[in-house]
Amino acid sequence: MKKIFITIAASVFIISCNGKKNVNQSIVSFVKTKIVESAFFIDSLTVKKHLYTLASDEMEGRKAGTLGIEKAAKYIENEFERIGLTTFENLETYRQTFNFTPRRTKEEITSANIIGVLDGKSKKDEYVIVSAHYDHLGIIGKEEDSIYNGANDDASGVTAVLALAEYFKKVGNERTIVFVAFTAEEMGLIGSTYFGKGIDASKFVAGINLEMIGKVPSFGPNTAWLTGFERSDFGKIIQKNLKGTGYQLFPDPYKNFNLFFRSDNASLARLGVPSHTFSTTPIDVDKDYHKASDEAETLNITVITQTIQAVAKGTESIINGIDTPTRVVLDNSRK
Ligand SMILES: [Zn+2]
Repeated sequence: MKKIFITIAASVFIISCNGKKNVNQSIVSFVKTKIVESAFFIDSLTVKKHLYTLASDEMEGRKAGTLGIEKAAKYIENEFERIGLTTFENLETYRQTFNFTPRRTKEEITSANIIGVLDGKSKKDEYVIVSAHYDHLGIIGKEEDSIYNGANDDASGVTAVLALAEYFKKVGNERTIVFVAFTAEEMGLIGSTYFGKGIDASKFVAGINLEMIGKVPSFGPNTAWLTGFERSDFGKIIQKNLKGTGYQLFPDPYKNFNLFFRSDNASLARLGVPSHTFSTTPIDVDKDYHKASDEAETLNITVITQTIQAVAKGTESIINGIDTPTRVVLDNSRK
């Protein structure tokens, strides 16, 4: 936060004290004004509200097919409505409802991806997807705390989707942004796979997926890492846009975890979309990962807020049609 407010002071100084602005200085002022916007429109109080609501015991761990996840779905829909998002293509509501049978239980489940749209001003037919999964593991066992709240995994990511929707509604976007809360990620990327089957992937120029952004990363504060960094130049574009902000993006350091294929970004990457996951969590040592102890109180609201601000700033040139990342190419065994 501090860094950003220092920047605000600097940009106010440039605007107010320099009568003869040359072009370069105007650009500097413009860029800094944008950081000011992300600091003002993405505030930690709203972040905290989304996170604590989605990770509350009332949502019962948000397992696909339960009453708990239905409460989360309603919360996300209400927020999409409040923010002023429209519905996706042929859908009449924010819900993309479908049935599936998980491999383990063999019991048919009805569930829904929640999708909201901000039409682009000048590049309406070029889409950028901003996503996170809103399901988690539900209630397991009969111990005192048997609710797997999934605060970091992935209420933190859904919080980012909601905050970014509100942010881009205010600042505007040249490309169309499709905000998606995916269901049944924990059962095998089921919601995103279903979504992928129904789209024309060539329209999707980039995928911004958010997973577990609530803990201080191993690289230190004001950093995040990106899965599949070398698979397109998406990450390099983000790094370029973050220069001078004090926030840094690194390639995923946990190569042996195969994380690129373990979240919903993979369902779009398989279709060629440069679709990557941002995370901050030191997953190799995270004792709360897929445990009942993954509670909102274990997360750092400042880390979440700063990461959302960095994603807003870092993806700006893609959202506004200035940069287009290279497509992802996978070998056949991964498709
Ligand atoms: Zn997850």
